[in-house]
Amino acid sequence: MQERNTIQKTLVLDALCALADHPTADEVAAEVQRRYPGVSRATVYRILNQAADSGTVYRVKINNGADHFDHQVFPHYHIHCSKCGKVDDVFTEPYVPKLTSADAANYIITGHSLQFDGICPACQKKIQRRHDKKLNRGEANSHWM
Ligand SMILES: [Zn+2]
Ligand SMILES: [Zn+2]
Repeated sequence: MQERNTIQKTLVLDALCALADHPTADEVAAEVQRRYPGVSRATVYRILNQAADSGTVYRVKINNGADHFDHQVFPHYHIHCSKCGKVDDVFTEPYVPKLTSADAANYIITGHSLQFDGICPACQKKIQRRHDKKLNRGEANSHWM
């Protein structure tokens, strides 16, 4: 059983690395099942969550969205496309505000998170194409006016 767990864990982490673009647990499960249809979705979820809890993988929490997972565990921030939901890395110096527990309602501060929101290059192109089409239609209309 232990051996089976280790093998399944390797399959899940391999799939996470292969996807390499901050997949959701659903996307990792689909990739694992594409390669090994015998592995259940619940198993993939369990392994991912355990790996995130132990720090083997990084859980990217997205505001109002499903968690994404990252095989890169060094500290870095993420940007979330508000159009398609894609998540990418942001490479900037860690921004760590100087807080004491007195500043934070006497909590013990254990960490912080920072999410950037934006529109990814692929979605920018889609928006630009829609805009261009409208412009073209606008010109066609003015021709008949
Ligand atoms: Zn996008
Ligand atoms: Zn990342």
